[in-house]
Amino acid sequence: MALLVKRSARWVLVVTSLSTVACISSKGSVTQDQSFSAARDRMVAQQIEARGVRDQRVLAAMREVPRDLFVPAEQRAQAYQDGPLSIGQGQTISQPYIVALMTELARPQPTDRALEVGTGSGYQTAVLSRLVSQVYTIEIIEALARDAERRLQDLGYTNIATRRGDGYAGWPEAAPFDCILVTAAADHVPPPLLAQLKPGGRLVIPVGPLFDIQELQVMTKDAAGRVTTERVAPVRFVPLRRGGLLLQSHMRYGMVDRPAGDLRGGTDSIVMRRLRELCHCTARGGRGSARGSARRTREDRDR
Ligand code: SAH
Repeated sequence: MALLVKRSARWVLVVTSLSTVACISSKGSVTQDQSFSAARDRMVAQQIEARGVRDQRVLAAMREVPRDLFVPAEQRAQAYQDGPLSIGQGQTISQPYIVALMTELARPQPTDRALEVGTGSGYQTAVLSRLVSQVYTIEIIEALARDAERRLQDLGYTNIATRRGDGYAGWPEAAPFDCILVTAAADHVPPPLLAQLKPGGRLVIPVGPLFDIQELQVMTKDAAGRVTTERVAPVRFVPLRRGGLLLQSHMRYGMVDRPAGDLRGGTDSIVMRRLRELCHCTARGGRGSARGSARRTREDRDR
C-alpha cells in the first residue's frame, strides 16, 4: 500500500508496506541469517539500485550491514521492508533507500572523517563507518544513545565515536569534517555544522518546516568557504530537537514515549500511523524524478 500526498504541486510517496519480508525460520540463526542476507540483496536491488543509487561502495555497505540487528527484536521480520520503522522514544530508523541516498550524496571517501547528527538506532552510522576512516555520531535521547553505543560495540564497529547531546552544536573538538549527515529535519541549517565542514566537504540535511515536507539538501563548501546548495528531493523526517521542542512535538501529536515492543494495535497503531505520516518519504518515482527536479543555487556564506 502506498499513500500519496499532494503538496505544492509536488508528489510525495510514503511507502507503508512492501512485499519482500525476510522469512524467519524457527530452525535457528543460520537459516535466519541466510534469509536476512538474501533479503538484504533484494533490498539493495529493488529499493536502492532501482531508484538510481549507483555508488558501488555504498551498495556494498548496504548489502553488508545487518539492518535486522538495528531494529527492535519484534520487528526483525520487517527490517528489509521499504520504509522507516519505529525504534522507540517516538523515533525511527530511516527507510533503507534514504540511508543509501544520503550516504551517496555525502560522497564518503576512505580517508574521510564524518559526523552524523541523530544516531537513532546506529544503522546509518554503521553504514557510513564502512566507507570512511572515522565516524562521530551524536544522539540527543539518552536511551537511544546508550543502546546504539552498545549495539555498535557488540557488532564490532571500531571506527565510531558516540556522544549523547545536542548535535546542533556539532562536535567542535573533532572538527573539521569531510562530510556531515543530519538525519533529522531542521528549519534552517545549523551554522555550527557549516562551520565544522572542511573546504571541499559535503553537508547532507533535510531542511524545511518541521512536521511537514522538507527538502533534502546537499551543501558543498569550496576552498574559499563559499557554499553551494543542491536541492535533491522532497522528504519527511522527524524533527531535529532543541530543548522545549521535544515536549511540544509529543503534545502536538499525542505521541508518548514507550518501549518499541508496545507498538501493536490500539493507541499504538495511532503512534505508528503518525510515525508513517511523519517520517521519511521518497519522491515519486524515486531518485530519478527527484533528481530531475533538483535545483542548484549558489549562496555565499561565511564559514
Ligand atoms: N540515523 C538514524 C535515524 C535517525 S531518526 C538511524 O539510522 O536509525 C533521528 C534521530 O535524531 C532520532 O534518534 C532523534 O532522537 C535524533 N535527534 C533529534 N534531534 C537531535 C539533536 N538535536 N541532536 C542529536 N540527535 C537528535
